[in-house]
Amino acid sequence: MARKLFIDTVGCQMNVLDSELVVGSLRRQGFEVVEEARHADVILFNTCSVRQHAEEKIYSALGTLRGHKQRHPEKIIGVIGCMAQKDQELVRKRAPHVDIICGLGQLARIPELIAEVERCRAPVYAVSLGRSEASRPEVEQSFESYDPMREPSMRPTRFQAFVRTQFGCDKFCTYCIVPSVRGPEQGRPPEHILAETQQLAEQGCKEVTLVGQTVNSYRFKHGDGRTTRLSDLLYLLHDVAGIERIKFVTNFPRDMTDDLLQAVRDLPKVCRYLHVPAQSGCNEVLARMKRLYTVEYYREMLARCRAIVPEVAISSDFIVGFCGESEESFQRTCELVAQAGFKNSFIFKYSTRPGTKANELFLDDVPEETKKRRNNDLLAIQNKVSFAEHRRWIGRSVEVLVEGPSKRFLEKSTLEAGGPIQMTGRTMTDHIVVFDGDERLAGQTLPIDIVDASSFTLFGLLKDGQAWSMPAAARELESSEPARQQRLGLPMV
Ligand code: SAM
Ligand code: SF4
Repeated sequence: MARKLFIDTVGCQMNVLDSELVVGSLRRQGFEVVEEARHADVILFNTCSVRQHAEEKIYSALGTLRGHKQRHPEKIIGVIGCMAQKDQELVRKRAPHVDIICGLGQLARIPELIAEVERCRAPVYAVSLGRSEASRPEVEQSFESYDPMREPSMRPTRFQAFVRTQFGCDKFCTYCIVPSVRGPEQGRPPEHILAETQQLAEQGCKEVTLVGQTVNSYRFKHGDGRTTRLSDLLYLLHDVAGIERIKFVTNFPRDMTDDLLQAVRDLPKVCRYLHVPAQSGCNEVLARMKRLYTVEYYREMLARCRAIVPEVAISSDFIVGFCGESEESFQRTCELVAQAGFKNSFIFKYSTRPGTKANELFLDDVPEETKKRRNNDLLAIQNKVSFAEHRRWIGRSVEVLVEGPSKRFLEKSTLEAGGPIQMTGRTMTDHIVVFDGDERLAGQTLPIDIVDASSFTLFGLLKDGQAWSMPAAARELESSEPARQQRLGLPMV
């Protein structure tokens, strides 16, 4: 009988991709995926350490499994990813029933680690070197690349996939734990990225999203002295037959070069969408964050993006309540958001992270209540801007890659009554579109006329389709969207 695997994933697109790859490799070992942890022989938590809240969620989930593990000691529980790399001993201290601790640079070893626990019935650890524990080449080597074969059945849709361009990050923003847990920045060879994209296209994938912590910093130095930049990579992937759309996230403002913007302008398959986190609109805060740019630089960069790529949609991330953020500093961030015309922004309350420079050097001195208030205030400003940004699409026709029925609509739908299905998809500028349709449209790229808009969604109708009447369910969807955005805490693509 097939062994059963349960995996829970918290965090960014990288974690979603890692989970897909881990599940793929375990399926090849004969595992089958189940929806309930209690029904599984192996239970894995793919974790995130970017904010404390994400870690507490995992500890709470581990806590609920303590009794289960006592009753079924043969079951294997593993913590993989960021928390495993960062807090190896602490995880075992707080959850002694965990059998496997496996960091991001060791994910290829998971099948072997499961076998080892089955053999020895003792906890096993597999983590990479800390950044100051050895020389850079040694640390790099300890973060092994992990890109096994892709399995379409592991993705939310068969026609969309993430493709890794880089591991790690070298920027060391003072608030951020990523450079410690994901290791040094290392670009994947372009020929590997191309081969994977070709394989995905053969499996029916139409849209690839290139992912890297600072994807636009991508540089691969070849043995013969040539360098491949992200713009070169876009040209290379553009020729892959079957691929219709190419996106890339997340961009670092300082690395938004003209050659990249020109590639976005000139290559029809590349989405006109740029996620470029600003983090703050105040120069003193940006300096304390060590973001390496000023707000004036950021504004110029935005102007350059818009001058080179007509109609480009831009989104951002902000942290509110960072150490020493005064009311005046916060107002500067509000001004930036009010003026920048972002399609949307992801707003986070600062969460101090042991192991970061900010945690060591600065006081986390903005009270929680103030962080909450600033978060809500900034979100309200962004929602107003998003509303205007979305409404300018009314009356236009857009190409939508249909993803499937809207989840919320399905929950409340009139399916039983045989009503139309509210479908959802995205435009080339990453705008979410909902329209009345049919499940069989999923995976197709269709022209949709936009007839209404909220701060988060464009409402449309299929060209030559029936007249759209704004259903109450769509309005409800709209009002609950900010909650979803904050819950996900992700620039989801
Ligand atoms: N590499 C991306 C970049 O540079 O923009 C983002 C990586 S991070 C996983 C995603 C977002 O989390 C960041 O843009 C930042 O806004 C937020 N973030 C990172 N560290 C944080 C912290 N300690 N507290 C609150 N938010 C944080
Ligand atoms: Fe973290 Fe800054 Fe690197 Fe983004 S660029 S992953 S925020 S250190």
